[in-house]
Amino acid sequence: MTSTRYRIGVDMDDVICNTHASLIGWAEQEFGLSLGDRADEPIETLLTSSQNAAMAEMLNEGSIFRHLAPMDDAVEVLAELYRAHDIFIVTAAMEHPGSLRHKFAWVGEHLPFFDPLRLVFCGHKHVVNVDYLIDDTPHHFERLDGRGLLYDAPKNRRENRYDRVRNWQDISHFFAGALA
Ligand SMILES: [Mg+2]
Repeated sequence: MTSTRYRIGVDMDDVICNTHASLIGWAEQEFGLSLGDRADEPIETLLTSSQNAAMAEMLNEGSIFRHLAPMDDAVEVLAELYRAHDIFIVTAAMEHPGSLRHKFAWVGEHLPFFDPLRLVFCGHKHVVNVDYLIDDTPHHFERLDGRGLLYDAPKNRRENRYDRVRNWQDISHFFAGALA
């Protein structure tokens, strides 16, 4: 059996890192909210416009990106895929320029096997040349040459144009199948 070595781009926020959970925790603490039973909804919809403005300011400051939890199984599956494929982390870090050094440090801590030259801090993702892009934001797929794999998230539940993966086990199975 010959296996194909794919070039795979992987998003950070809400794909490798559980950004949503940290934002919910931040909003509860900052505004005294109790969002537990609504934590599975897009956070912007749970906040007032002034609370959303405060969240944007906090994201631009950026240090929250240093302290995100990895998604379940993300580190283990990424390590496996890293051996079999050409993996690049592709994150629209320019949406929050203050996040750059924190994202870089996060990868160094949690993914020490990852070559820093495989980190792509960008704005628009359609500039990258990948066979697959794993992302929770479907608009990144619209002008992409490669194929989008949509990582399930509260904000994308109505999107049905792309193959959906629910977790990192799904990603592992997808590429195991793609190799067969
Ligand atoms: Mg994302």
